[in-house]
Amino acid sequence: MHKVISHPPEAPESFLSPAYAQRAMSQPAPRHRLPDGEMPPEIAYQLIHDELLLDGQERLNLATFVTTWMEKQARDLMAESFAKNLVDKDEYPQTAEIEQRCVSILGHLFHAPAGENPMGTSTIGSSEAAMLAGLALKWRWRKRRLASGLPADRPNLVMGANVQVVWEKFCRYFEVEPRLIPVTPGCYVTTPAGVSAHVDENSIGVIGILGTTMTGEYEPIEEIHDALAAIAKTKGWEVPLHVDAASGGFVAPFLDPHLRWDFRLPLVQSINVSGHKYGFVYPGVGWVLWRSQEAVPEELIFRVNYLGGEMPTFGLNFSRPGAPVIAQYYNFLRLGRTGYTRILKAIRETALFLSGRIAKMGPFDLVSDGSQLPTFAFRLKEPAPLSAFSLSERLHARGWQVPAYTMPPDAETVSVLRIVVREGFSRDMADHFLRDLHWAVQTGAGKPATPSERRKRANRFAH
Ligand SMILES: *Cc1c(COP(=O)(O)O)cnc(C)c1O
Repeated sequence: MHKVISHPPEAPESFLSPAYAQRAMSQPAPRHRLPDGEMPPEIAYQLIHDELLLDGQERLNLATFVTTWMEKQARDLMAESFAKNLVDKDEYPQTAEIEQRCVSILGHLFHAPAGENPMGTSTIGSSEAAMLAGLALKWRWRKRRLASGLPADRPNLVMGANVQVVWEKFCRYFEVEPRLIPVTPGCYVTTPAGVSAHVDENSIGVIGILGTTMTGEYEPIEEIHDALAAIAKTKGWEVPLHVDAASGGFVAPFLDPHLRWDFRLPLVQSINVSGHKYGFVYPGVGWVLWRSQEAVPEELIFRVNYLGGEMPTFGLNFSRPGAPVIAQYYNFLRLGRTGYTRILKAIRETALFLSGRIAKMGPFDLVSDGSQLPTFAFRLKEPAPLSAFSLSERLHARGWQVPAYTMPPDAETVSVLRIVVREGFSRDMADHFLRDLHWAVQTGAGKPATPSERRKRANRFAH
């Protein structure tokens, strides 16, 4: 959300001088009000291009899970398809076909049971995917309750306090009670015992996270699944499991193929994954898959015919860019299973190398090591020479973005830094980073945190 800012009117402009001598370049840029006149395209381009130099360097951003590098051919394909609107399946049937192929490929990758009619769709990211999966859970639960003549007015969703913000959003936007299972200092994932203690007959589902945002650890999905199966037996409550595999959905199938977290577990109803994270596509594409047609209540599917043929859709958006879906298919064709495996292996090795060096550096303890998602968190040993927040700020002075944040309830006393290793982050860059980390600790020791550092305490990480 942004506020509307008022702006004084501008005087008219002349375009007769060279780029940086033009008045547009020597005056404040029109900011908060539509300018009265035009400006030449190259000037508008240069003005915005220059302003964007002030953004961080995306490749030095170790905070985000989202793709910051793609091959030239993928960029070409995306540029060629900027005009394609994904919702317009009648006008762009091949783009629709490519989306369908991606759904099938992911269904196979996640072991969707062919006999149960698995379904899926692309979304703008895992957040939209999570909203759709959550809605399907809520509607199914309500139907079940009403069919048995039971009240259906107090739905809850069970999940760890370490969930990504999207699940709290889902609960607020769609009026479901969030049942957050606290984490504890030293254990930052949901446990089967925690799930058993929080589930009841009004639980529309449980969220298991394959790769938590906080530490990069996988939650014990199979154990959580078995706890739910036991509850179904003893109490008769049918509580399905949704796996938030935003990051891990593109990691585990390649690096941990024997880990059972997906549709191989019968209570896993649905899975979301971000194509723009370890699917290696620029933002925004996500995916959501359901194990069966029954898992998606018919009432949530809309059929519209005003673009041509009749198309069933389940989504929060109507128009959406087709380019990221096309880029996802490019990666599937280009990389195949061996390609994804090789890239992810290299990324995980870099993560393990970095975490190993950081552990040996002296002032740090690892909270996780990057052996699951290639993402790890570390904290300063007590007594700390500087705070995690000052350290983050100092690294920023060298261009690196490494978020510092406090852990969720009940582990708020623990503050950590987190590094997400992605494609495009080489061993050489890791060496540079280690040198700068060493520098930041040495030169920052003993300096008190500035007010702006203290303000950054609250959740600096965005993904
Ligand atoms: C990133 C992330 C999300 C949100 O995904 P977007 O694709 O950014 O919308 C949800 N859950 C987890 C675990 C994530 O890591």
